[in-house]
Amino acid sequence: RFSLISPSAIPYSRSIFKLISTLILGEHEGGFLKPSTLSAVSAASSFGKDNSISILLGGSGSDLQKAALHAASTHPVISQVLVADANILMHPLAEPWADLVHLLQKKGAYSYIISASSSFGKNVLPRAAAILDVSPITDVIEISEPYLFVRPIYAGNALCTVRYTGLEPCMVTIRSTSFPPPSIPTAVESSAAPISQVDLSTFYKETGGKSRWLKLTSQETDRPDLGNARIIVTGGRGLKSAENFKLLDKLAEKLGAAVGATRAAVDANFVPNDLQVGQTGKIVAPELYMAFGVSGAIQHLAGMRDSKVIVAVNKDPDAPIFQVADYGLVADLFEAIPELIEKLPEK
Ligand code: FAD
Repeated sequence: RFSLISPSAIPYSRSIFKLISTLILGEHEGGFLKPSTLSAVSAASSFGKDNSISILLGGSGSDLQKAALHAASTHPVISQVLVADANILMHPLAEPWADLVHLLQKKGAYSYIISASSSFGKNVLPRAAAILDVSPITDVIEISEPYLFVRPIYAGNALCTVRYTGLEPCMVTIRSTSFPPPSIPTAVESSAAPISQVDLSTFYKETGGKSRWLKLTSQETDRPDLGNARIIVTGGRGLKSAENFKLLDKLAEKLGAAVGATRAAVDANFVPNDLQVGQTGKIVAPELYMAFGVSGAIQHLAGMRDSKVIVAVNKDPDAPIFQVADYGLVADLFEAIPELIEKLPEK
């Protein structure tokens, strides 16, 4: 660990007399907050006790209203839900979303603006930070104290401690695997936060909209989402073909797991790139991560080393994956996987 910016006094503008306020850029699906947004709520709770936390939800239709109700009753730390109802916000386009954040910051003068380090957050927050002329702190894994953050660098091989000394707002994306969703205290049902509609009357005049949403292409699957799965079985180049990945599919079915892949497997067209785990793929931390035919390159480890239990099967006893594995099996995966499928009980 090292300190990138040596600790210095908190700027005058953030004197102890100022109340803290946080805006969370919320994501929702099917009328519910995404788990990554709940992690952002957890992270925002570490900014201080007297922190007024607002969640911003955008989009349109009944799903948005349902998600707002969910957000309002999700945890007592949430002070307010802001609903921005506009068709242009239905899709994660960085331009209108960043303009919206700018608009809200002008009105709300938030101390912090935070989002999960998801595709949405990574797209929107830095753009909004550029408009607001502040430097964002991305991929935070620990909030040691207000304005003091820990984030991985060099593909997770070093941790960097950063003190934010810039102007407000302090803009942060958090790695959701490092902030478990808040546990809900009993007897909070009655304390739902107020829901306010954001006045967008000036928004359309200000937002230029240089990009357009065309379509979403995604794989239809009954499997758990890679980002939230409790168990992940991952295949690497050692699987050798797209056809052989079907073996992993069978194992995943038995375990109720999501399937992941290395970049080498994606580049070889064995599987689509939304399955990629790693520095340039998804960051995951399931309870069980099983890696088959994966060498354990640092860029891959960067995406899965926080998994609770790691199992590796590789025929090379010197494969680096064994250095992070809790259980390692030196074996041919084409023997090990069928044996596992045969011996595992039905779900
Ligand atoms: P290999 O390194 O080729 O390993 C295959 C392994 O399979 C070997 O260890 C071999 O012993 C084993 N094997 C072969 N046959 C069998 C068998 N029959 N039974 C058992 N074991 C077998 N990679 C990622 O995964 N995710 C990323 O996000 C990512 N981002 C990157 C970003 C950058 C900027 C760069 C430069 C690289 C990135 N990479 C990423 C690529 C990374 O460096 C590695 O090339 C990649 O992870 C290797 O994938 P692999 O382990 O499947 O393949």
